[in-house]
Amino acid sequence: MSHEVFNWQINRKMTYWYPEHRPRRQFAGVFDINKCIACQTCSLACKTTWTSGKGQELMFWNSVETKPWGSYPTGWDVKALSLLGPQKWGADEYVGATVFEAAPKGERVLQYQPEDMDWCNVNLGEDECSGMIEKGAYLKIPHAVWFFYLQRICNHCTYPACLAACPRGAIYKRPEDGVVLIDQKNCNGHRECMKACPYKRIFFNVVTGTSEKCIACYPSLESGKSNRCFETCIGKIRLQGWINTPEKAQEDNPVDFLVHIRKVALPLYPQFGTEPNIYYIPPKQADPVFLRQMFGPGVDKAIATYKNAKDDPELLGLLLLQGSSDRIIERFKVKDGTAIGYTAKGAEIVRVPLKEPLYVRPYKDVALDVFRHNVT
Ligand code: SF4
Ligand code: SF4
Repeated sequence: MSHEVFNWQINRKMTYWYPEHRPRRQFAGVFDINKCIACQTCSLACKTTWTSGKGQELMFWNSVETKPWGSYPTGWDVKALSLLGPQKWGADEYVGATVFEAAPKGERVLQYQPEDMDWCNVNLGEDECSGMIEKGAYLKIPHAVWFFYLQRICNHCTYPACLAACPRGAIYKRPEDGVVLIDQKNCNGHRECMKACPYKRIFFNVVTGTSEKCIACYPSLESGKSNRCFETCIGKIRLQGWINTPEKAQEDNPVDFLVHIRKVALPLYPQFGTEPNIYYIPPKQADPVFLRQMFGPGVDKAIATYKNAKDDPELLGLLLLQGSSDRIIERFKVKDGTAIGYTAKGAEIVRVPLKEPLYVRPYKDVALDVFRHNVT
């Protein structure tokens, strides 16, 4: 049965299979696409922690794909967007249909079931750019020829399509942190969730005969520690925390600050309607038309704000705190040229200078009686 719920990302009411029921707090993450180097450390950290067992060989709960050509499973977003048809935004809301509203009669979500082969090429299209680099090309922003990396985990959506579609009620959203989990004892492998998730973040284990997904490293989460893919990120692109709805946004909450206050981080394909809780700082070098389809109409302002970070100490400080600790930074402050991260109770976790100090050593080390070639 359909219920009317409010989705702030599309700024309107929409229909969903269950009534609106937000968790006490919602797990969230912000990924800065501009900083990712596609080293895949995150993918391997997740794989070695959670999916190294039998039947999990082709499972990557965290994957990093190259846009525009890369995708895992193959073609997931092109297929999802084509199914949905034209997606129209009005002045301040999405006026097209969501995957719930566009569902065919008798179904709960408009989606497709990937083929087995679609899961076999996790790095398809990696590092392929959008076009040919012609003779005489020069560098400008946005680049004429571009690519960027898109880091993907389950979005632990506020309105999960997977949960709506499960005929056995085996998928649930935890009230204490909003993490979406599959009860393995109740799942009997219908794969309706796999079909329904527009982000294709449900995986099927052929050995156990059940569906599996990212569990947001909930044992770490419960002890205030970052998830594996956040903690190990080489590029320090990831920030983990909690998100409030826009009217309850708190300025000293890092995720709220980036998403609601500066509006520099945006949800992926908000038009799907699931209210995903992983947010992206869009890449400043890529085609804005492509980015508007991917992150919605706020993308141009987000990039302009990001480019201005050097003149915005709070934003700059928070971007520097990203990836600076394996603890979850729940509050932050920028003071006297230093960004400081705190726990929810106000205990200091980490401090980072906004400007790295520069030490100049004399070119001659008198004590050792040697000359230095590199003196900075
Ligand atoms: S570890 Fe960080 S930098 Fe490396 S691919 Fe993953 S998100 Fe990108
Ligand atoms: S991203 Fe997909 S699997 Fe994750 S909660 Fe949303 S609908 Fe479910």
